[in-house]
Amino acid sequence: MAQPDQLIRFMLRKTLTRGVIIQMNNIREEATRLHSLGELESELFTQVMAGSILLLSISKGGIRQVTQLDSQDKDSHVQRVASESRQGAVRGYLSKKTTQPLIQADLSALGSQVKLSTIRDTGVGQPYVSTVDCPAIHLADALLHYTRQSVQTQADFVLYKNTAIMIEAMPQCSEKQWFDSMQALASISNTSLQEKSSIDIMDAFSDLECRVLGKDDYRYQCHCKPEVMLDALEKLDKETLASLEDDEGNVTLSCQYCAKTYQLKSQNNE
Ligand SMILES: [Zn+2]
Repeated sequence: MAQPDQLIRFMLRKTLTRGVIIQMNNIREEATRLHSLGELESELFTQVMAGSILLLSISKGGIRQVTQLDSQDKDSHVQRVASESRQGAVRGYLSKKTTQPLIQADLSALGSQVKLSTIRDTGVGQPYVSTVDCPAIHLADALLHYTRQSVQTQADFVLYKNTAIMIEAMPQCSEKQWFDSMQALASISNTSLQEKSSIDIMDAFSDLECRVLGKDDYRYQCHCKPEVMLDALEKLDKETLASLEDDEGNVTLSCQYCAKTYQLKSQNNE
């Protein structure tokens, strides 16, 4: 099983703010290996995965969170980056349109017009699905926009290399307190984000009475099953299905999240 990364949940008692920090080292390594990603692709993909973990961690997060970016631009490098998080597990995929390497590990890889879709599954009733025009080139800004518009939460995000931080105002947090929390977050340098451990990065919050509330392990993990793959197969039309079958009527499908292959018996001829 892939190695976990640790998400730390904390609270800034002085400013009534809660937060989470995760460094995606092992998740990135596993995802890069599974999807054979180049350096910048892997960085972009890691940030989208981190984004879905952060959104799952906000107070209105729920039990499952999907974050998906789709290019609307025919000349972009990347068509889609998608990530799904559940407690302790994240999976995703990145689909490219060209074999050219990326130029930047930001949303410009998807071209000038990008749609941001999110699914927030609270575990009760239908999941909340939202799709908006992505307003920014940096994922952190796009997440900020999403939380303001769709979850109506006051939050702030930092995503740099493998490190992801989110802070969120608690209901009693005043404007001044929120400003102090954001200022402390903004004081963290990119060098710290890249080189220091989570606990050392959290030193930036020491004046705000930072307390660790808990730690959760997250892994790159896929939960695909033959039944789910068979379901997907049954949704295909007969012609597509026939084109996928081998001489014995078997279809080999590969999971887009973990590259595991499934040999399934097609129901086409029965
Ligand atoms: Zn899978």
